[in-house]
Amino acid sequence: MSACLDCGACCATFRVSFYWAEAADGGGGVPVNLTEKVDSFHRCMRGTWSAAPRCAALQGEVGRKVGCTIYPQRPSPCHQVEEGSAQCQRARRQHGLLPLPERLPA
Ligand code: SF4
Ligand code: SF4
Repeated sequence: MSACLDCGACCATFRVSFYWAEAADGGGGVPVNLTEKVDSFHRCMRGTWSAAPRCAALQGEVGRKVGCTIYPQRPSPCHQVEEGSAQCQRARRQHGLLPLPERLPA
């Protein structure tokens, strides 16, 4: 089972920004009301550009049980964070969670 289901740390650590057209009004799938404008070309997930980031689409409690309410429509950066990657471990560390076992190269 994925460690992500009881984690969610990366959704509450980084600014999740992407090209604006990934949002619904640009033809993409991300609901516009869950985004905020970064600049003319970029948006981010609402809540991830604050001092204590937390994505507006994240439900549940970080480190216990979480879910992404827009999982099938989540923006591209969310597809890129890999479980056990350096970014993942950094996020987990920030939330006081134990590191995941390192992934060995295939
Ligand atoms: S920090 Fe790592 S384990 Fe936690 S949700 Fe993100 S990718 Fe999954
Ligand atoms: S859209 Fe979903 S996967 Fe992406 S940061 Fe928000 S809660 Fe996490």
